[in-house]
Order: sequence, then structure tokens, then C-alpha cells
Amino acid sequence: MAGFDGLPDKRWSLRGTTEEGDEAWVIRAISRKLYRCPSCHGDIEIGSEHVVVQYIFRLGGTEHHHWHRRCAEEGLIGELSQVQRVPASESSPSRLQDRGRYPSGRRRHR
Ligand SMILES: [Zn+2]
Repeated sequence: MAGFDGLPDKRWSLRGTTEEGDEAWVIRAISRKLYRCPSCHGDIEIGSEHVVVQYIFRLGGTEHHHWHRRCAEEGLIGELSQVQRVPASESSPSRLQDRGRYPSGRRRHR
């Protein structure tokens, strides 16, 4: 994926679309507890920089996972379509939860 090296970072998150048509937001995070990366099944140590992948389903609802940045770059971001960078302020957990409350057809467009 060209053009997104080093992203997401503090200022920018990424948003793309999965094959199923769901939104996938990729957001920089610092871990506050031990997480297990769904890609390599390795630990993400407390206090380490990593990425949160937050899905917002077309039919409503959300789900998120913690990934190593490198695993997300190699195994996830490249499979998304329409990837664009979005200000990190738009990807706060509360905003994304809110966005997942309704099916995408009924979502307010911004
Ligand atoms: Zn990993």
C-alpha cells in the first residue's frame, strides 16, 4: 500500500472498506494491557505502540482487534479498498461506536 507509510500515527488514522463492504478503521494506540495479535498470535506488550482495527459493519455493530503494526501493514491494510487517511479526531472510540449504531444505509453522511 503506497502512500501510507508510517500511518496510522497520532494525527491520522486510516479508513478502508473490506471485501464484505464493511468499514475498517486502523487507529494508532498504546496498549494498556497485554493483547494477542490475531494475525501472528504473538503478544503485544503493555505500553507498546500498535494499531487497533475497528470494524463497523454494514448491517450495524462494531468489533475491534489489537494488531501489531507490522502485521496490519502486511496482512490487512493491503486487502482493504478505498483506503484513505482521516484525522485521528474522527476515529475516537465513542464516535465509531456511534457510527456502528445503525446500518450504513441509514447512517448520516458527513
Ligand atoms: Zn502480530
